Amino acid sequence: MGANDECGIFGILGTPEAARHTYYGLHALQHRGQESSGIVTSTYDEARERPVMPIHKDFGLVLDVFDQERLFSQKLLGDSGIGHNRYSTSGASESRTNVQPFLVHDRKGNLALSHNGNLSNARELRRSFSEQGTLFQTTSDSELILHLIAQSRRERRVDQIIDALTQVEGAFSLVLLTDDHLVAVRDPNGFRPLALGRLASESSGSAKQNGHAEGPAWCVASETCAFDMIGAEYVRDVEPGEILVIDRETAARGDASAFESYQVPGRHGVSQCVFEYVYFSRPDSKIFGEMVDKVRRQIGRQLALEAPVPEVEDGQKEPIVIPVPDSANTATLGYANACQKQGQRCHFEIGLIRNHYVGRTFIAPGQDQREMKVRGKFNTVEGLLRDRPVVVVDDSIVRGTTASYLVDMLRDSGAASVHFRITSPPVVSPCFYGMDFPSEEELLANQFDSIAEMGDHLGVDSLAYLSVEGLMKAVRTANKQNDLGYCNACFTGDYPVPVEADQVKEEFEWQ
Ligand code: AMP
Repeated sequence: MGANDECGIFGILGTPEAARHTYYGLHALQHRGQESSGIVTSTYDEARERPVMPIHKDFGLVLDVFDQERLFSQKLLGDSGIGHNRYSTSGASESRTNVQPFLVHDRKGNLALSHNGNLSNARELRRSFSEQGTLFQTTSDSELILHLIAQSRRERRVDQIIDALTQVEGAFSLVLLTDDHLVAVRDPNGFRPLALGRLASESSGSAKQNGHAEGPAWCVASETCAFDMIGAEYVRDVEPGEILVIDRETAARGDASAFESYQVPGRHGVSQCVFEYVYFSRPDSKIFGEMVDKVRRQIGRQLALEAPVPEVEDGQKEPIVIPVPDSANTATLGYANACQKQGQRCHFEIGLIRNHYVGRTFIAPGQDQREMKVRGKFNTVEGLLRDRPVVVVDDSIVRGTTASYLVDMLRDSGAASVHFRITSPPVVSPCFYGMDFPSEEELLANQFDSIAEMGDHLGVDSLAYLSVEGLMKAVRTANKQNDLGYCNACFTGDYPVPVEADQVKEEFEWQ
């Protein structure tokens, strides 16, 4: 896959604490990518008499990459900055050159970019650039955007960016930093989330002491939990296809509606990633205009309608409903409450404990290590489970590794029966728009003809998934104000932006 699957991006303009706020923002977005992290800022170098962009990036978690105070007090100076957390599991990810943000310098000055998503015409673009003799420094799609910007014949940097973005297709939520602007972009399909926030000048620390303009600072982030971290307020989403240009002068005036905004023409409608609601985003974030917590609870309630807690024989203990933490916690509350309301005997328990110091299971290369990571990540609370029917709720089954090990662990702990309930439909198709899934053959759902067979393979007493219709209904019920479309290709194979057959092959050859 491209190196920008599942990333967290952040940008800010209008505060001398730009780097520090970016650091906090990235920390809040750590769940979107744990492999590498980076920050670039924009400042004026008096000695060289020109704007410069200091940068610091490396492999590791935000707190480890930025573990020295002097990075903030001496290096990453300036009133604006962007940052990036990357998740990628691909082979390409081992290369240091792929760590973002990317930074280049051309006749128009400095330019930095952070990208979350995956371009679907990357192959075509790479081929045409190679034919012209362009040298690539990375294997990442995002570099293509920089080449397109640099090659644009337009005069203004902002127009070059617009020019470049009309030539790329697929999924791209971007923040770009120029010497004068912070630019936030969402692809016309709106695959990945991106929101605009406002940080009141009082909270921007030493602004006044430094004689800095008293206007607010403006920030953009993949998820609003990053705004909460720095005390900024959510203003609105960057709209699908919008190029939002935040310049210093307008920023200081404090009126969001005064920013220049352009529209990239889209050919495929809007298709926001429904998997962000199912799994990826944090419940305390607002994405696509609605709180993830609210949507996830509704998803759990819908699952309770479609696949409630199984009835148990008289004399058996009351079933417990336990989430696979943390991603299934919120939906499980919705599920267990709804089951009780429907009259099913059950109650919510925390029967699995998660060790937070293990990366996501997907990070382990090769199956054996992945299995070890599941064991290293979860343990059972035996006293709760012994002799009880246990209903385990998880957000998804991808390869089936997590589920199959959890079943063994729950049985070893004495569960009377183990029932799995999944708050999304079976994952049947890979994602080409920025979510990290394995190839079609590796997906558990493609290895069996029926859900019953999958259940047998996992060793559960029963297995049930939410239907596609149920998922979409729950999302629409919880998020009424957003009437735009969603992408559910991972559950249906209906790709909203066409994927070429050979692109599919190439995507996996990169791994
Ligand atoms: P698996 O063990 O392959 O079936 O993976 C399923 C587990 O991984 C679920 O418990 C999810 O919470 C989590 N998961 C689902 N999708 C992803 C993804 N795209 N990236 C990382 N983890 C995921």
